[in-house]
Amino acid sequence: MKKRLALLLACGMAMSMVPVQAEEAKDEINLGVLIYKFDDTYISTVRAAIEKYAEEADVTINLDMQDAQGDQAKQNDQMDILVEKDLDAVLINCVDTGSAQGLADKAKDAGIPAIFFNREPAKEIMESCDGLFVGTTASEAGVMQGDLLADMWEAHPEYDLNGDGVCQYLVFKGEPGNPEAEARTSYSVSQAEERGMKMENVQGEPVVANWATDQAQNSMEAILAAHEGEIEAVFCNNDDMALGVISALNAVGYNTDAEAENWIPVIGVDATDAGVEAINSGKMAATVKQDGDAMGKALIEVAINAANGKDFVEGTEYEIAEDGVSVRIPYSRVEATTADAE
Ligand code: CA
Repeated sequence: MKKRLALLLACGMAMSMVPVQAEEAKDEINLGVLIYKFDDTYISTVRAAIEKYAEEADVTINLDMQDAQGDQAKQNDQMDILVEKDLDAVLINCVDTGSAQGLADKAKDAGIPAIFFNREPAKEIMESCDGLFVGTTASEAGVMQGDLLADMWEAHPEYDLNGDGVCQYLVFKGEPGNPEAEARTSYSVSQAEERGMKMENVQGEPVVANWATDQAQNSMEAILAAHEGEIEAVFCNNDDMALGVISALNAVGYNTDAEAENWIPVIGVDATDAGVEAINSGKMAATVKQDGDAMGKALIEVAINAANGKDFVEGTEYEIAEDGVSVRIPYSRVEATTADAE
């Protein structure tokens, strides 16, 4: 094994010298792509964008894309098989960021750059190899949710149902401990407060619903049984939970459409197809979008640079973030176009 590795490394070195001498970019690039789970809604959009921008690139890009189906052991095996092939770089969407070091080591041993994306490993892991992380800033989605609510609260004094100048709210949380769930839960509320709103959590604490529609719906039904009419806004860490909250609200006559007499702002994250449909039909106030298309575009551009031995962001529109090991793709706001007209 060791002998073969040395040989591979020697080959890699010899090959990497060719473009340096010729000062030419490769005309064909082999990219390995490890995906944590193909049927994740957001990741599907990233996957489609990777394929689209690979096709559109002015160099031939051969993608070898693997589905770990949410199983880290499976992803480790896929990495072992990929590094035996003649790859120029590998894109890695970890199942478990706790296992990212092992993947980084394998990329390093194979002499190829490792571009992690979406699920963020510790900074030291990117530093330990020819590594980069492409993702979002965890706090940004929450901050945008807080801004969305503050803007609505200013535009619609009637949203303060009991007129006490305080926003009685709920926040539905994904898995406790998940960095995105923690950041969205705290920053949505702190940003609303930053914008001058007085916030009061009706439950006294976040409602944990593990990203799931049915859990959010069940919890919201129970909360409404005790607090119907007292809730003035709902933040949800994702659209799936927002849709569960809305189903529970609909069942008691709230948020049935934009003209409903009883209506409270529900704000999600993700801009899933169902989430956007709920916004367009007046049931949901807004969501925050992780731009999967922009993510895929960035991944292909930095991968082409990496494959050619250039700096990841050289000649692109991207910048390395303050941490020195990442490129951050901004979120964007998605609101009902009718909201402003009301
Ligand atoms: Ca109030």
